[in-house]
Amino acid sequence: MPKVVKFGGSSLADANQFRKVADIIKADKHRKLVIPSAPGKRFGADVKVTDMLYGCYEAVCAGCDSVKEFMPIAARYNGIISDLGLHLNLDKEYQTIIDNFNKKSGVDYAASRGEYLNGIILANFLGFKFVDAAQVIFFNTDGSFDAELSDATLSLKLKGIKNAVIPGFYGSMPDGRIKTFSRGGSDFTGAVVARAVNAVVYENWTDVSGVLVADPRIVNNPKVIDSLSYRELRELSYMGATVLHEDAIFPVRRAGIPINIKNTNEPCAAGTMIVPETADLPDPAHIITGIAGKKNFAAITLEKDEMNSEIGFFRRILTLLETEKISFEHIPTGIDTMTLVISNENLAKSPKLVEKIEKVAKPNHIEVEDDIALIAVVGRGMRHKRGTATRVFAALSHANINIRIIDQGSSELNIIVGVHEEDFENAVKVIYDMFILSAKG
Ligand code: ADP
Ligand code: ASP
Ligand code: MG
Repeated sequence: MPKVVKFGGSSLADANQFRKVADIIKADKHRKLVIPSAPGKRFGADVKVTDMLYGCYEAVCAGCDSVKEFMPIAARYNGIISDLGLHLNLDKEYQTIIDNFNKKSGVDYAASRGEYLNGIILANFLGFKFVDAAQVIFFNTDGSFDAELSDATLSLKLKGIKNAVIPGFYGSMPDGRIKTFSRGGSDFTGAVVARAVNAVVYENWTDVSGVLVADPRIVNNPKVIDSLSYRELRELSYMGATVLHEDAIFPVRRAGIPINIKNTNEPCAAGTMIVPETADLPDPAHIITGIAGKKNFAAITLEKDEMNSEIGFFRRILTLLETEKISFEHIPTGIDTMTLVISNENLAKSPKLVEKIEKVAKPNHIEVEDDIALIAVVGRGMRHKRGTATRVFAALSHANINIRIIDQGSSELNIIVGVHEEDFENAVKVIYDMFILSAKG
């Protein structure tokens, strides 16, 4: 059974990284199917090729000279090709892309060319077959992913192929137009391919040695999580652990294929194994598995006398959200209070929402705070342990951080707290200290 290996942007940022990737692939003959991202940042102030493509397309649409705008992008790829000593000339491909930009072929087409060109180079370097994702990854007319057609086409197409490179991030619509997944979507492509070929493992190679207990940009040198369940990962990635795209577990979870997060710059490290809930997961090293969080939420708090006994109160609010096509994150409630936690992005879709809530719910008081950060404290170890929430609250209270929202997921797998954005980083740090650094774990 093959292994499917996905390499992120930093793993393919320059020729040196390409060599590391080739060494990793050649070290294991089962690594037969490779999903590359577009070249990422080579150093802190560098720009990812995907971002260069978005910028280039916007400039062309605004009337700038397409050939000139595309030049720095071609230079990135030509630099990699010449540093690797490949006999490969992509001038024709560049010309096609420039022509299509001039024809306004769409922002998704533009962004997808990062993975497309990188795939051609990597296939050439490895001596693998290049399979254009447009031929095997499909979307429905409404823009949703067509799992069945993609799965069937991929399994058929890859059956007779020994080794292949399939670019991540994009596929095609029924009318042939190119469409991308959301940012970071190459992780999803890798999972789809892993499922289609029934891979023994989906290896996701990045620039950290696994899923870390907390975001390394917030906590200094956080510990690596050795293993975790799909569910724990879903909670963490949904809540901001950006190491893996939040939807990437769905295709592999259905087939029970484990995901192994690995570091291209430290290939010998075991990384993190993500496995089904039913697998024999070792006892967690700590009560909590990980901490993740995101800013940019609003909390709309309603107070109304005897809200609790008012029949239909919830229904009116939920119907309003449905009509306005707004999804919400949480609705913690008290006896006579209710808080709607909604991302600011979603809230912006309905500028008059608060007035409309007032109309349908007639609260005594309504208050909106739009500077809320949510933090998820996740762990299968919490189920059988009392006092986890108390310890989260104690850590925050010692640090003088005011908790705005509390919600414990019904799975008992996570505790969500909402704090003001200015307290966000500090809150993550003190929770990390409380559960991971303190001796009691
Ligand atoms: P790639 O380009 O390989 O897809 P990403 O940049 O998308 O890589 O994801 C890896 C990054 O995710 C890390 O460099 C790290 O900064 C960030 N990250 C955020 N939270 C976590 C976490 N809990 N564990 C590991 N990495 C995290
Ligand atoms: N290159 C795309 C992005 O920057 C997709 C990916 O990296 O997975 O979002
Ligand atoms: Mg990524």
